[in-house]
Amino acid sequence: MTFERRTTRQVVVGRPPGPSVAVGGGAPVSVQSMTTTKTADVDGTLSQIYALAGAGCDIVRCTCNEEEAAEGLARIVPRSPVPVVADIHFQHTLALAAMEAGVQALRLNPGNIRKPAHIKAVAAEAKDRGIPIRIGVNAGSLDPEIAERHGGATPEALVASAQRELAYFAEIGFDDVKISVKASNVRLMIDAYRLLSETVDHPLHLGVTEAGPPPAGLVKSTAGIGTLLAEGIGDTIRYSLTADPVEEVRAGRTLLEALGLRERKGLDLIACPSCGRAEVDVIQVASAAQAALTDRNIPLQVAVMGCVVNGPGEAREADLGIAAGRGKGHLFVKGHVVRVVPEADMVDALVAEAERIMEEGVDAVLASADAGAEAEAEATRLELLATQGEDVNHVEEHVERIREITGD
Ligand code: SF4
Repeated sequence: MTFERRTTRQVVVGRPPGPSVAVGGGAPVSVQSMTTTKTADVDGTLSQIYALAGAGCDIVRCTCNEEEAAEGLARIVPRSPVPVVADIHFQHTLALAAMEAGVQALRLNPGNIRKPAHIKAVAAEAKDRGIPIRIGVNAGSLDPEIAERHGGATPEALVASAQRELAYFAEIGFDDVKISVKASNVRLMIDAYRLLSETVDHPLHLGVTEAGPPPAGLVKSTAGIGTLLAEGIGDTIRYSLTADPVEEVRAGRTLLEALGLRERKGLDLIACPSCGRAEVDVIQVASAAQAALTDRNIPLQVAVMGCVVNGPGEAREADLGIAAGRGKGHLFVKGHVVRVVPEADMVDALVAEAERIMEEGVDAVLASADAGAEAEAEATRLELLATQGEDVNHVEEHVERIREITGD
């Protein structure tokens, strides 16, 4: 089950045999991030690019804010495993320099480069070289004249800024363009992209700008980007977090995988929130399992459930899971209990079973389930139900005592 995506034209960032990523036109939604190093620091920037690519980043952006940065790009681009986009503000000559350095795409902020001759000079060069440009409108740096005409940074003003840039590009016959209309206000961002998607068929780059540090930055970005993706809007995304950019990539990938827009590359750990029935410290077991399975890069859906009463049933869709009960860990595969282990060995047993599934497959692991494991788990489940009953929070006891206290 996936979301129906809006049809857009396709832009290709990069050209084979070098790294190349298609954006729009039915291509998988890509994840972007931006380096935080000085671009002139070639080795530092490349090592961050490699870390980002390793986390699943498809396209990386580097600032090109000075001549030394453009020179750095000339050394970075040939060694980058993913296409590099140069981020340009204010000086159009740096856009020309970045193209000379070999970048696979540009991002221009129309609020910061406003002279039509400069914009058209950059677009003409991009056209000659076959380099796409992202028109990166930002509510915080909107052209003052457009803002005034629209009574501030409204969705209409953001879209008008993008359209004016498109019109300059059209004058020289250039339309190899992606567009973003970012804002730090989630509502404004959502409305601007909705309007933009009704106005143009260019691929859209989604983001909530200056979202801030996690967890608020994650929540704001997910609210904005996730809402639009669920409506079929958006072809490439960036989380703008005040954090290690690798976190941006992890968040972006997690969102796309959760929405079924990208294939799962890594672990999907699901865990119950725990409650009065929990037979184990779910938070501690879940974080130990997450660390062990992430280290081994196991791309399974794994469940950690606090009790055997509800755990295996509620997580029956998971590839593998563990539920606690009476000092034991109940390992289950696709909802079937295959082994019962001492509670202290829960995480180790979970990891071992995950590795077996990776090597032998689910069916083989189910076929070699311990005889009696399912029956033992069921006996524990019934025992817990009998002792705890449905009233795990002892409501009736509390009500009885309240009546005693109030003399009712
Ligand atoms: S699985 Fe058990 S412990 Fe976890 S929330 Fe459900 S009932 Fe509570």
